[in-house]
Amino acid sequence: MESRLLRVDLTKRELKSEVIPHSVFEKWIGGSGINNWIMWEHFLTHDINCDPRGPDNIFVFGVGPLAGTGAGSGIKGRITFKSPCYNMFGDSAGGGKFPYAVRFTAFEYIAITGKADCPVYLHICNDEVALVDASHLWGKDTKETHQLLQAELGSYPSKAHTLTISQAGENQVGIASVVSDALRIHARCGGGAVLGSKNLKAIAVQGNGGLPVKMPDEMLAWSDDFRQKIDENEAVYGFKRRGTLGAVEMYQHIGSHFWRNNQGNMFRGDDVTSSDNWVKKYQKYSEVCSSDCFIACDSKYKIKGDESEAAAKYAGETFRRPEYLTTGSAAGALDVRDWSEVGHWGKITNDYGIDNQDLSCSISFLMELKQRDLISRKDVVDLFGREQSLEWGNMDDIENCVESVVFKKDLFGELFCDGPYLGALRYSERQGKNFMKYAIYGKGGASFTEEMRPFPTWMNNMAVASRGADHLKGIGLIEKFQRQDLSKIYFDGRTEAADLSTPELKGATTALVENQVALLNSYGVCMFHWMLDPAGYTPQEYYGKAYAAATGIDRVPEELMRDGERICNLEKAINSRIGMRREHDTICERWMWEPTDEGMYPGSVAANVFEEVLDEYYDWRGWERQTGLQTREKLESLDLGDVAEVLAEDGALAS
Ligand code: SF4
Repeated sequence: MESRLLRVDLTKRELKSEVIPHSVFEKWIGGSGINNWIMWEHFLTHDINCDPRGPDNIFVFGVGPLAGTGAGSGIKGRITFKSPCYNMFGDSAGGGKFPYAVRFTAFEYIAITGKADCPVYLHICNDEVALVDASHLWGKDTKETHQLLQAELGSYPSKAHTLTISQAGENQVGIASVVSDALRIHARCGGGAVLGSKNLKAIAVQGNGGLPVKMPDEMLAWSDDFRQKIDENEAVYGFKRRGTLGAVEMYQHIGSHFWRNNQGNMFRGDDVTSSDNWVKKYQKYSEVCSSDCFIACDSKYKIKGDESEAAAKYAGETFRRPEYLTTGSAAGALDVRDWSEVGHWGKITNDYGIDNQDLSCSISFLMELKQRDLISRKDVVDLFGREQSLEWGNMDDIENCVESVVFKKDLFGELFCDGPYLGALRYSERQGKNFMKYAIYGKGGASFTEEMRPFPTWMNNMAVASRGADHLKGIGLIEKFQRQDLSKIYFDGRTEAADLSTPELKGATTALVENQVALLNSYGVCMFHWMLDPAGYTPQEYYGKAYAAATGIDRVPEELMRDGERICNLEKAINSRIGMRREHDTICERWMWEPTDEGMYPGSVAANVFEEVLDEYYDWRGWERQTGLQTREKLESLDLGDVAEVLAEDGALAS
């Protein structure tokens, strides 16, 4: 197994092709593992404390070795960089056809540094690469940019597939995202601002090459088996119909939504409390987001205009079904009660390429201040240059707030362009008042629109995720769905991981699942297949066989789990070099101290178990409790002695 990396130095306009040898796959698997390795190596020769919006930051795109092989497990590309909004390790996955198309060019990894002297886009056509003037694309949103590039590049040797930024990225809004084929968003951590700071508007790829599969017969056999398993899995049928929206009813039942800036945890209104309402009223047809998926959970919607009073305003609008977190940010954080408005929120945040988690929590922070009369009419005019009601669920106000941030067009946009944590800090300072208890955030200042106070693993995820508060790195399915069967499998017959009444095994679950997810992200597959049968399609065993067929790297499950652990430890080491310690592994005041007063678990606060769970997480990781830093012993056990040396030089290794 080897692969090609395209290095792009925008300052020098230099484009170089390099081979990534087999030995790198042996150690870093592929996908996010290799992206992390490229980033780590880059910051051995560049200042890791550089301005993330400066030319020394690196932006890496990579696609893993299972992508496009016909495995049927979906394809996710990954972008990796130092985050401009959280000033730490940043990465984000995205589907769509772009990562699939990249695999049919000569390159699987792209590393971009420097800054172009004018707007450009990167065009890759099989093994030919060029930087092309993008002045005609500057000022366009992600959809317009994608359409213009497809028209301009034609359909030979294949249709063009794109990764684009919007005006938010151009304006270096810290929470700006990168969008794949105008449909699937790499939402988290501000990759759009990094590309904007480099004057890189887009990457467009066209390819009709093949891709290497080491053992094609074994790959086909695995794929046949996987298709059969997916066909027999009853959970798949509901997931095809509703996708992640299927969580709406269950979260309503257990009190796991995030309502009005997490003042509550249940949605309100008859419409948005039923995912079937969405399917019946708006869904047109199901489709796959990538080209190599046996599930097809994605779908298209169209608003006719007569479905509700609010829908009339969006008549004719068509886009893809909102995912759960898009819904959580609109129907939850902002209390939008009509499905057509939730769909519209998903579309505008995608077209504007902006993270709807951080954006919604910035807006809901301000709405709560208004609700509590903590800001006056004059303060609102000061922020927006005009009157705004800032009433919960008011879509006109919400759209104005979105444009404020995307275009940094007023004080609100300037203050909140990096998300709710920095926005609340800046606003508190400006007003001479402490509003921080109303800001919702976890590690790095990143926000997230799900209830977590009764869910210790979920809460721990928010505090320790390497890219800032996030549920996907160590996703706490075992406790949220109280899966005792999974707890027993993972922890030698013990059931505490599924028991919400005890903090035990919650930090352990985070550590174990982070290692598994690191493997999936490195294979380059979609997580949803695994989530539909976490005990059956294990990343280290079941997927490990497909990885072996694709690459020829045959590992026993224990070795693969160690590979996943190594990948997680490199992300940790990057953050330790930036200066992150135990005190950064934390969450906001509301989650920590303010009890929930509704849902199935009223009275819950994170503070009851927070430190205990964090200690257990560090113990399972083999890191030092007091500082949260890695130990030399642990790093050497993972063949990361060189990483330990760098950390020791930086004073970032446990003493
Ligand atoms: S399961 Fe859904 S999100 Fe995952 S690859 Fe398939 S269509 Fe895309």
